[in-house]
Amino acid sequence: MHAKRNWSCSVSTFPPDSFIVAEVRPSPNFDERQGGPPDLVLLHYTGMKTGEAALDRLCAADSKVSAHYVVFEDGRIVQCVPEDRRAWHAGVSSWGGESDINSRSIGIEIVNPGHEFGYRDFPLRQVAAVISLCRSIVTRRGPISPKRVLAHSDVAPARKQDPGEKFPWHLLADSGIGHWVRPAPIEVSGPTLKPGDHGEAVKRLQQALKSYGYGIEETGDYDKATRAVVAAFQRHFRPARVDGIADASTVLTLRALAEMRPKPDQAPPQ
Ligand SMILES: [Zn+2]
Repeated sequence: MHAKRNWSCSVSTFPPDSFIVAEVRPSPNFDERQGGPPDLVLLHYTGMKTGEAALDRLCAADSKVSAHYVVFEDGRIVQCVPEDRRAWHAGVSSWGGESDINSRSIGIEIVNPGHEFGYRDFPLRQVAAVISLCRSIVTRRGPISPKRVLAHSDVAPARKQDPGEKFPWHLLADSGIGHWVRPAPIEVSGPTLKPGDHGEAVKRLQQALKSYGYGIEETGDYDKATRAVVAAFQRHFRPARVDGIADASTVLTLRALAEMRPKPDQAPPQ
């Protein structure tokens, strides 16, 4: 009669977008997408002491935050917002010159206490569930570029660290999800750019990060914002050391990723 519910009575339930969803727990925190259908998948960690606390928050009307999915450490997938609605998970963010990342994306919260409450490895069961969910999204929704499966830290480098350097992007890549190359060894020697540096080489680094998608200005100054973007890049693509210093390994890894992109002149001859 008086079932305990944490969400508002006005939020109606909905059918899950995929049968791999174990439970629908509707959040009131969503609105209409602007522009076309989503073509980006954004991965987060919950950053709270427990997954249940995070789920409660994502479904509480006064929190004004949500995500489409929450993936628990045991692999259980809960859906909170239908994919065709805009969930509120990205905040102030930017990728490839676009700033309404919530409209463009499907948001997946991965349960982990995060850097504040005891950052730990993501269990394989959980990673496997994230992979299945991403594959389901990409298969059902048509072309989502591998380069548009991103970390929250990629689109908000100055504010966010999630899902962080322990997230095994290489396992996703092994299953055809996301854009990834084996990082250049950390010991590789070569020129290093660091905070305080200034000049053409810094500008070229900023240009390379920007053309990959990061929101960064080409100022030629290795400022705080540049350090944050380099650290975000490292968290995702060269996680062995996340220090915001563009050492040779970081720069070589960025170059290898950029070269993986199909170029117009590689189109087959007519
Ligand atoms: Zn996040």
